[in-house]
Amino acid sequence: MPELPEVESVRRILVDGTPSLLGAVVWNVDILRASVVDGLSTEQLRRQVEGATVHEVFRHGKYLFFRLSNARGTNFCWMAVHLRMTGRLFLVSEESAIAPHTRFVLHLENRQVLRFDDPRAFGRVWLVSDPAEVISRLGPDALAIGKDMFLQRLSGQRRQLKPLLLDQSFVAGLGNIYVDESLFRARLHPLQSVTGLRGDERERLFAAVHEVLQQAVDCKGANIDGVFEAGNFPVAVYGRNGTPCPVCGSSIVKLRVAQRGTHLCPSCQPMN
Ligand SMILES: [Zn+2]
Repeated sequence: MPELPEVESVRRILVDGTPSLLGAVVWNVDILRASVVDGLSTEQLRRQVEGATVHEVFRHGKYLFFRLSNARGTNFCWMAVHLRMTGRLFLVSEESAIAPHTRFVLHLENRQVLRFDDPRAFGRVWLVSDPAEVISRLGPDALAIGKDMFLQRLSGQRRQLKPLLLDQSFVAGLGNIYVDESLFRARLHPLQSVTGLRGDERERLFAAVHEVLQQAVDCKGANIDGVFEAGNFPVAVYGRNGTPCPVCGSSIVKLRVAQRGTHLCPSCQPMN
């Protein structure tokens, strides 16, 4: 499931790749599965997006926002995309065959297409007049947040670390993989409650989240279940139950926390 590093990796490919999506004009829109469009009809989406120019691709947490101007350049709106479980975006030439799980295609004037593939079909595309409509329900971006704000937000919390870090209204962008990796790097137990954390442990948690996400972005995400095949982030604990801890050699164990499979080293991550 794509988390912040995978979504950021998609954004960078679209923006920094050759050709770039920036400046591209949308010729027309093919919607191969209507349920992918959320909160408006496929006709309404087509009317807004066809003829539009893509000016910016912005990410917050696991959400992408494409800033579009209409054909006359007088009006702006944002196309929001959430990849959910298995969504992927590809900027490819129009000769590239539609894949079996393609749900949505923007045909661009430069003979390119932006293709949204999604085998599980939980991903969604919709329009907002301002990304704040979505972001106001979320916490700060987990990569962009600074230490002071992170510690300040932590100080109001009493919850256990795993469910807290998964909560997108606390910080946005972490999911099961990077929460487990961050807690391992911080040497903190997933069931540890915030109230029992010392000051140095709180700082360690911030540093671990930041370092893990930055490293994962640099690695273009993690290749888990072959979904992000270009990702080469080296997971230390996620999905590695039964294998030796890379730090101490103890066996990595898997627990169920907050209804999620949770991986940890019981020696490196003791409970306070
Ligand atoms: Zn260990």
